[in-house]
Amino acid sequence: MAQVEKSNHNSDQREAGRLQVLDVIRAAGTIARIDIAKETGFSPATVTVITSQLLESGLIEEITPEPAADAKPSTRRGRPRVSLRLRGAAHLIAGIKVAHNSVSVLILDFEGSEVVSHDMPMPEPRMATPYFCETLKRAVSQACAKGGFALSGLSGIGVAMAGLVDAKRNFVYWSSSLTDRNVNLGAHLDRVLPCPVFIDNDANLVAKAEHLFGEGRKVDDFIVVTIEHGVGMGIVIGGEIYRGERGCGAEFGHTKVHLDGALCQCGQRGCLEAYVGNYALLREANIMDREMPLADIGMLFKRAEAGDAMARSIFERAGRMFAMGLANIINIFDPKLIVLAGEQLSFDYLYADAVLEAMHQSSIQVDAPLPEVRVHAWGDQMWAKGAAAYAIERVSALTVREVPVDA
Ligand SMILES: [Zn+2]
Repeated sequence: MAQVEKSNHNSDQREAGRLQVLDVIRAAGTIARIDIAKETGFSPATVTVITSQLLESGLIEEITPEPAADAKPSTRRGRPRVSLRLRGAAHLIAGIKVAHNSVSVLILDFEGSEVVSHDMPMPEPRMATPYFCETLKRAVSQACAKGGFALSGLSGIGVAMAGLVDAKRNFVYWSSSLTDRNVNLGAHLDRVLPCPVFIDNDANLVAKAEHLFGEGRKVDDFIVVTIEHGVGMGIVIGGEIYRGERGCGAEFGHTKVHLDGALCQCGQRGCLEAYVGNYALLREANIMDREMPLADIGMLFKRAEAGDAMARSIFERAGRMFAMGLANIINIFDPKLIVLAGEQLSFDYLYADAVLEAMHQSSIQVDAPLPEVRVHAWGDQMWAKGAAAYAIERVSALTVREVPVDA
């Protein structure tokens, strides 16, 4: 027994070491072995062993820079300095963002370079599980066909969806995209897709994308608030996403702002989202004016812009509610940075000066600057990028496990 534990411990350490080396190479782009040793704190001998295993498995490749044409003969002597980089062709990995009315797919190579992107309309915003899985398969298949390769060529698929998702178990407690509750979605998708699938809450994956590619690149502690059909949040602490015990944390949209308040799409009352989400604003407008029901939030915007008092009051109230929510975040987390992320159209009223001013008023006042608030408007492809980045991370972890020890 002790022997088994020991060997598990050794293989865990080995995997962790390989992953750490891969991370350093990924961050650097190209890097020499000696610099990997400096970055990781591993001995040069350990780095040599790990990198030869990674080379053998095809995850990385060597590049030998050509000596400069004008280099003096003396500098040409000896072995040229060899660098390592990720081998992009090692894996093709897809990220999927499931939105209210579309599915966005982004396929990256193992280095993170874009191979193909594709958008497909959602046949319905909310579906039964089998139909939902078939829809995702269709979207990914279309993307693969566009890229000229088979679906079976993918090594992993990351899925970003709204709702309460336990990423560790690929389990969805509830999602606005599914008519079923408590769905073992990972198992359902495994039946229709040929490679491992990794599911997470979409706001977590936006936080990952912001940390890797966006506003949070050099920040290790920050909060992302996403605003689209609903309101989401991703928490990055110490460079890692904080997911909570059951994967139900960071549900900013379902924090309560009103006792026995408006009905939320989660089934509870008084959630922030029930006052700020697109669906809530439309519902409010259609209750206030039953004569001409509005079909989408864009129409309500147009009315507000044209000076319609009812439309304006709806956006103003949403802004005040949102400011209160942001102040609550600041008062709990005291983050360095808050990133408001989403599509431009659906939320520009939420970062109006008046909203930020109201947020400041409700934040705990000390003699120090308040957190910076940055607005990052981006489309569904960037959410898909977060999903793909997550899948690359998970595929890396699975692959280093399979690298032979004596490669
Ligand atoms: Zn709710």
